[in-house]
This record gives sequence, structure tokens and C-alpha cells, in this order.
Amino acid sequence: MKVCKFGGTSMATVNSVNAVKNIILSDPERKYIVVSAPGKRFSGDTKVTDLLYAAYAEQKEKGNADETLKEIKNRFETLSSELGITHDWDREFEEIASGIAAGTSADYAASRGEYLSAVLTAKVLGFEFLDAADVIKFKSDGTFDAVLTNDLVAQRCRGSASGVVIPGFYGRMPDKSIKTFTRGGSDFTGAIIARGVNADVYENWTDVDGFMITDPRIVDKPKLIDVLSYEELRELSYMGASVLHPDSVFPVQSDGIPINIRNTFAPEKKGTFILKDTSAYERPLVTGIAGRKGNTNITIKKAMMNGEIGFCRKVLSVMERYGLSVEHVPTGIDTMSVIISDPGSKGVNEAKLIDDIRLMVNPDHIEVTSSMSLIAVVGHGMANTPGTAAKIFNALYRAGVNIRMIDQGSSELNIIVGVEDEDYAAALKAIYGAFFD
Ligand code: ASP
Repeated sequence: MKVCKFGGTSMATVNSVNAVKNIILSDPERKYIVVSAPGKRFSGDTKVTDLLYAAYAEQKEKGNADETLKEIKNRFETLSSELGITHDWDREFEEIASGIAAGTSADYAASRGEYLSAVLTAKVLGFEFLDAADVIKFKSDGTFDAVLTNDLVAQRCRGSASGVVIPGFYGRMPDKSIKTFTRGGSDFTGAIIARGVNADVYENWTDVDGFMITDPRIVDKPKLIDVLSYEELRELSYMGASVLHPDSVFPVQSDGIPINIRNTFAPEKKGTFILKDTSAYERPLVTGIAGRKGNTNITIKKAMMNGEIGFCRKVLSVMERYGLSVEHVPTGIDTMSVIISDPGSKGVNEAKLIDDIRLMVNPDHIEVTSSMSLIAVVGHGMANTPGTAAKIFNALYRAGVNIRMIDQGSSELNIIVGVEDEDYAAALKAIYGAFFD
């Protein structure tokens, strides 16, 4: 049996919801449905989730959120009347307005898009509605409670006579408040449900044909990836490939449930399969290329650093204190570099951060360079195959791109290069061209 998650564009218009309905009803194995909030209907439109965050802000500013809630209500009313279903939207929106007015969190406000979208979808399909708050649970420290959730999902979902529709993106804290995952988190909900019901496959329906080798905004019509492994997906989505939430593999990986990315608007296409073990498939040298702009490289120099036991730990403890996640730590004999996302983008004062590193390790010199892009070239195929790095560096040399950093994971799953932000697009095109044109 299959768990299907439909993203925001699939839930946005009467046509897209009808396409969703046809996909589900064409296969009796599609029994467990997870939905996002309605997304953009056209370019320049606003996602319902963003409107809900705006409603929360409006409440804080003006003492009520009437204007924005009216706009959201209008979207649901229009959708349901076009789909030919009835629902008491007045009552739903009164409850949301009073919830927001009573000082509930931004998470509560944001979660209502998925909640209402699932209510609507359950009616369209004639399926049971199951509130994510009743099965998806967090611990009191705010971390996701996988064990309790898995038990609850199994109890509540398995053996349901009709199909079940569950809102994505949120769950409940022990104090009964609503908490959301990070943005795009409905993908994670889908994976949680797939694990809980022990699905044969987790279908993730979106608005593209599958996972592309690289960013189509930069490389014109990149090829699709037919098959990739959980590890490759993690590497690519962490580095910026945005088709699937990077955490989506965690719930499904122990049971090895395949994830299949599909296009709601072209359901005849097979899409991309993400598998635990891809060894049965012929794999290319490189599976995908992804990247992220806006990183900072802090290079710390100190004579005889190598002999100073604990030096790296002290530097990294400063990063920890500032809540900064460290991307890479290339080292030399007397130098250590720490690569992080630009501190300003995380609300951290860079000058203070550097002062604190100085105080902590008393270095001879610190050099900070920002605006560095990281590009990851990912693929199991490159293990034990000479020449992959040579191809990358040659392509960058020919494109006139200067390489500021090189890092290869010890598993030979990826090679990461750092280049100037302004060279990012040229570098991505050059690397893609070297392997795929
Ligand atoms: N609606 C949420 C967002 O826009 C969650 C999701 O769609 O997965 O991030």
C-alpha cells in the first residue's frame, strides 16, 4: 500500500485538486494521503502558509487578523464551491481567529493551512480525516518523538476501512500546543506516516517530473535522475536541491521504504526513485550537483597550532555558543579554517564572533572571507574511480573559475568545492557540462 504526499501547488486550484483526486482514486493502494497547504496558483501569488504567518503578525500589530484571515477564508470557500463540496468555513475561521487572538504561537497559525487543506481533501475523496496533532508528537524539549508517533500512527491508521487524509507540517507538544516542522515539513510528515503504516512506497507528488541533476534555474533543462540513494539525496538536498525536505529520509530509512517523486501534472511519468540500496542499478559517475551561496570562511593562523591539543575544540566551542552550524573544517599544519553560512544571515554579529575566537585561542592572525559558494558533486559512482576530481577541476579551470576550497568526504560520496558567489552559476554550468553534455 502507498502513502502519497501532495505539495502546495497540487492543492492550490480546482484543477490541481481534481488531478490529485484522479491520481488517488485511480489506484486503490493509495490509502494514506498527506497534504500541504494550498500553494501559489500563479507566479506572484502568496502561499496560504505565508498568509497565515502574515495573519499572526497582523494580530500582533493591529490587535486582530481580520483582513488576512478573510483572504485565506476566501481561498478555501472558492476552492470548495468549485469542487462542489460544502463545509462550515465560518466556524473554522472563527476558531482560528480566536486561537490567534488568545496568543497561541506562530506555529499554530501556520499549521492551519495544512489542517484546512486536509479537511477539504478528505471531503473531496470521501476519506477519513485524521488530525496530525493526534498522532504526530514532540517531546517537551521540542524534538520529534519518533517512537510514540510511530505507535500512534500504526494504531490509528492501519486497517482503516476508507482511506485517511492527514495534514502535513505539524504535530502536538506534550503541553497540547501545536508545533510545526521547518518549512517544507509536510515531506517529513509523509515519511513518518509511510513508516508508521509500513508502506510499500512513499509517493511524493509535486510539480516537477522528479529530481533533476542540478538546479534548472541555472542550467537549462538538466536531465532527470531516475534513481538515487538516501545518502545521495541527503547530500544534494542539504546543499540546496529543494525538491524534498532534507530530513525526509530519516523515518523511512530503517525499513528501506522507497520514496518516489512524481509530478501531479504529468502522472504518467515514472519520476525519481530514492532507495536505500542502489547497487542493482547501473550508476553514473556523478548522480547530482547542488550548491549554496552565501558562506563565510574564517581562517585562523597560529604558529605550532598542530601541537596545541584542544585548539580545534576551543574554536568550535565558540561556534556552538553562537548556535552556528559548521559546514567544513579544512586544516593545515598551522591553519584551521571554519566554513559556516554567513553569520549575518543567522543574526550573529561577525565582529563579536571573531573577537571571541581571538579570546579563546589567541591566534597570530584571523582572516575572514565571505560570499563563498559551496558546490557538492555527489555520487556513489565516483568511489574507487580515478579522474572524477580531475574532471571537476579541469572544467572549472576552463571556465576561468578560481577554487577557494576543496573537500572530499572520506566515503567518496562527494567532492565539495568553494568558489566566489559571483562565479557560482558559471561553476555549476561548467561542472554539469563536464559530466552530462
Ligand atoms: N506549507 C508549509 C510550507 O509552506 C509546509 C509544506 O508545504 O510542506 O513550508
